[in-house]
Amino acid sequence: MTRLTLEQAPVLVVGAGIMGAGIAQVAAQAGHPVFLFDARAGAAAEAKSKLLATLQSLVAKGRLSDQAAQDCAAKVEPISELAQASGVQLAIEAIVENLDAKQSLMRSLESLLPAEAILATNTSSISVTAIASGLQHPERVVGMHFFNPVPLMKLVEVVSGLQTDRSVAETIFALSQHWGKVPVYAKSTPGFIVNRIARPYYAETLALLQEQAAEPAVLDACLQAAGFRMGPCELMDLIGHDTNFAVTQSVYEANFFDKRYVPSLVQRELVAGGLLGRKTSHGFYRYPRAAHSNSSGSAAATDTPFPPTRVSVHGNDPIANDLATRLSARWGGVFERILASDWCGIEIDTARLMLSDGRCASDIAAQRRRQQASADIAVFDRFDPALASLANQTPSATTTPGRLSLAYACAEGASDHWQHEAPSWLNLLGFEPVRLTDVPGLIVTRTLAMLINEAADAVNQGVCSPEGADAAMKLGVNYPGGPFEWLANWSAQAVSDILIALDAVYGGERYRVSPWLRRRASSEIR
Ligand code: NAD
Repeated sequence: MTRLTLEQAPVLVVGAGIMGAGIAQVAAQAGHPVFLFDARAGAAAEAKSKLLATLQSLVAKGRLSDQAAQDCAAKVEPISELAQASGVQLAIEAIVENLDAKQSLMRSLESLLPAEAILATNTSSISVTAIASGLQHPERVVGMHFFNPVPLMKLVEVVSGLQTDRSVAETIFALSQHWGKVPVYAKSTPGFIVNRIARPYYAETLALLQEQAAEPAVLDACLQAAGFRMGPCELMDLIGHDTNFAVTQSVYEANFFDKRYVPSLVQRELVAGGLLGRKTSHGFYRYPRAAHSNSSGSAAATDTPFPPTRVSVHGNDPIANDLATRLSARWGGVFERILASDWCGIEIDTARLMLSDGRCASDIAAQRRRQQASADIAVFDRFDPALASLANQTPSATTTPGRLSLAYACAEGASDHWQHEAPSWLNLLGFEPVRLTDVPGLIVTRTLAMLINEAADAVNQGVCSPEGADAAMKLGVNYPGGPFEWLANWSAQAVSDILIALDAVYGGERYRVSPWLRRRASSEIR
């Protein structure tokens, strides 16, 4: 198929709901005449009225000139028959998320539009290959997956089905750029990029809630401290548990019930009970939410640690270096640096405050007991040194001013003294310590490791490139970084070890290491 140039060409948008209306606006603002069609009589005209109101409010806020608003509005033409758009070279469907409806629409469009016209689908979960199936020219069907709200969200996943012609995907890629979007290529697989890689962000928190590791506000505070704009619980409340559960279920089923994606009983109960989140005023939280002074809800230790005899900082990575800097700045005593150590953290006399490597504190303590060493072990969660330093300089409305929530856990059988001292040391270092039950990988460590693993698997299966995955997660769901960017500051071996440690506790398929990550870990050994 020859490559089309679609700049300024008329476009047909089918489905004038939330997404179709947004797509029509973006296309018109980029200069295309847009035909807008909806099966429900009057819906396209209603969408145009709403668009006029949106454009007027943009003009009132000074974000759009009056002329640009008028030009945009004039370009959108609601139509009552698809045949009125019979000459267009590009149709984008944003109708109901149903395979039969989409296939039937594609057949109608194929018989109506020129032979070289591109048929794009905004489906968020249906196989592009399946939507194209049965057409005379399936090679011209491509996914053009926008994110809501379309005018604001930069990401477009350009999704190729098995038969999609490369030049068709390239044309849509170039067109998305022309529309001011950031396109990334994706292969038609369940969840494409964003909806697939994001699953562990919800799943790990839901799993921890199920095993009573902490309250929703605690887990939310820890992940926000790691840079995520919203914690998973408040995000699921915003998305709606019905929608979020349906996406998880569809990814799970589409992967032939791969246990890696198994949905959560906690979320199913919320859906069954009609506690859908903000839209029902009740999900994990009640809405409107009361102002929360201490979002973690945990009583942080504020005592000064008992003066130790000997302190040493172990490890030689950015977190160990940051701990040493914090200790120098916040504690008057002398300490040793042990760079060539097989763990990261601080040894205080014989007790150890260790960065989570995926193992439970109790398992590390048991191993130490076998070596006749102290079982006073606590593990703390992964943190971003740059964010933590910034927080210490900036008072925050949600945490103790200037402190980021940091999860920790103490080993079963640790002395009462150490159970009191461990949070006091984290407090001294400038964190707000929040205690979880002794779960492997705490919350941030296991969530980041699982997001990286899922992204690695997506790359391994040719769904996207590492750069595409990073762009998709940052632009599609506002992650503070991309999974491969996190990996660049970590190590594939360390991430694999965390997953292996999680697998040792839980068993099953959920934490199996991606072959891509295994290969990367092998390549790190010099
Ligand atoms: P919506 O319910 O707001 O709008 C769908 C519109 O399509 C309705 O106006 C309906 O009358 C119309 N319609 C249904 N069947 C039709 C047909 N056969 N022909 C013409 N019009 C028809 O839905 P939405 O949220 O805009 O979603 C539309 C598509 O975009 C779905 O495939 C959805 O999965 C996808 N999507 C949605 C989001 C989101 O956040 N809402 C994000 C990305 C992708």
